[in-house]
Formats: sequence, structure tokens, C-alpha cells
Amino acid sequence: MPRAWRHWPLVLIAVTAMAAPPAAADAATWWEVAGPSAGAPRAIGSPGRGCLDGAIALPADGPGFQVMRLSRDRMYGHPQLIRFIEELAREAPSRGWAGLLVGDLAQPRGGPMRSGHRSHQSGLDVDVWLTPAPQRRLTAQEREELGAVSVVASDGRSVDRATWTPAHAQVLRVAAEHPDVDRIFVHAAIKKALCETAVGDRRWLRKVRPWWGHDAHFHVRLVCPPGDAECESPEPLPAGDGCDPSLEWWFSEEAAAELRKPKAAARTITLDDLPPACRHVLRGG
Ligand SMILES: [Zn+2]
Repeated sequence: MPRAWRHWPLVLIAVTAMAAPPAAADAATWWEVAGPSAGAPRAIGSPGRGCLDGAIALPADGPGFQVMRLSRDRMYGHPQLIRFIEELAREAPSRGWAGLLVGDLAQPRGGPMRSGHRSHQSGLDVDVWLTPAPQRRLTAQEREELGAVSVVASDGRSVDRATWTPAHAQVLRVAAEHPDVDRIFVHAAIKKALCETAVGDRRWLRKVRPWWGHDAHFHVRLVCPPGDAECESPEPLPAGDGCDPSLEWWFSEEAAAELRKPKAAARTITLDDLPPACRHVLRGG
């Protein structure tokens, strides 16, 4: 008898065990659930502990934008986020930015992801590549395989003059000046370049915050949509444009040491960690 056949009874036991329902409601289902929930759109909780009811999908293509990594199925957002992306995409070309390559938004019902982000859970976050779109429609395969190009020099202390352009600063400014934007995360070297070159009204700089990574994309977070009572607003931003000693910290030995520290494995977020309404969003139709 071929070897594999001898193991059939064992395989059947294994398959039966796998088909059993999970013992506890767990977060894994957030990336397995197909399609948005049927509720009215509402962002629930916070970007790092939340979910999204009644999401809508950003189309894979639209005027001035193309969505990347379609296979991830993370192109869902609160209608306010979809509107923001479409407005930014319309405005950016007039500031010299060829078009947006859009990275992850949220899963169909938001919630924690299996990989890649700790936030993006409530449908108010989007990653936009710091690589302008080419003047043609990318194939689905190109959208999987093309990589975003870093605009930060290899020492991490300044932008890379080979890849950074004035149009990068312009698209960040247009995004930051949008009234629905709460904050934007970029690499500290990008923030530094903006601080050094911004002219005229500099109030928008306050919204652009230094963070780890974010050298090849910027991460936009919107304010809570008006009327979404269960949406938790993040900590208010500090006063000022952020072009101050707090920015210098990111280039310090202390920051470098922080980065070198071994990262503790992030604890899995379960349904119990999320606002109670998320249980219905996940399980409801
Ligand atoms: Zn992001």
C-alpha cells in the first residue's frame, strides 16, 4: 500500500479537528471575514483597538490614484477616508505629484490585522506611497511586486537627494492641510526636511509627526467622523510645528538604542480587547 494511504485515518482525524469551531472567539476572524458588515458606516474605538461598521471599498483605480497589493484585501475604509483619498488624488497633480499609489487602508470590517500594522483598525488610516504613480495603469501583478522607494538617506539622518523632490513636500502639505486629517506619520528625516524648507503658512507642519519607518510611505490618520459616538479621538497633538528639540530626539543615541532593543512579540488582540460593538460588527451580516 502506498505510504500516504496508510495515513488516511490520521488525515481524517486531522481534518475533522480542523473543521471544529474555534474554542473562543478570536481575532483571527478579522482577516478571514468576507466583505463589510451591513450597518451604517461608523468608526468604532481607536486605530489601535477598534473596528469598522459599514465600510466601503476604495476602487482599485480612480482619477489620480491606483491601489497597490490588491490581494491583501485591505482597501476598505470609512466613507470619510475614501472621500479624503479621492480628494487628495484630485488635488495632488496640480502640486506636481503625478498620482497616488495607495497602500493599506483597513480590512473589510477593520479590526486587528494578521501582519503589517498595529493600527489601521477603525477605517480612518491609510498608507500612501512616497513613490509617485506612473502615467499608466499598473497590472495586478505589478501592484503586488513593485516596491515603494525610500526617500531617506541610508544613515537615516536626512532625505535622499536622489529620490526626494519638492513634489514630495507638496503632496504632504496638501494632505496635512485637509480638514479631516488629524495627523500624518513620516520618518523623522522627512519631517526635518519639511521643517527646513516649508515657506509661508507653516501651521500644517504640526500635523506631520515623526515616527519609526515611514521612509517610503506616509501614513494618514483622520479625525473621528462627526456623529460617530464610539470613535475614540487620539491624544491631541502638542502645540507648535514640531520643528524643535522633540524632533532632534529622533536622531539621538537614545532613539538609536530604542530601535536596537529586541521587540517583544505583540500580544494577540482578542475580541475582549475591543469595544463591545465590534463583536456585532464581526459576527453580524
Ligand atoms: Zn500605516
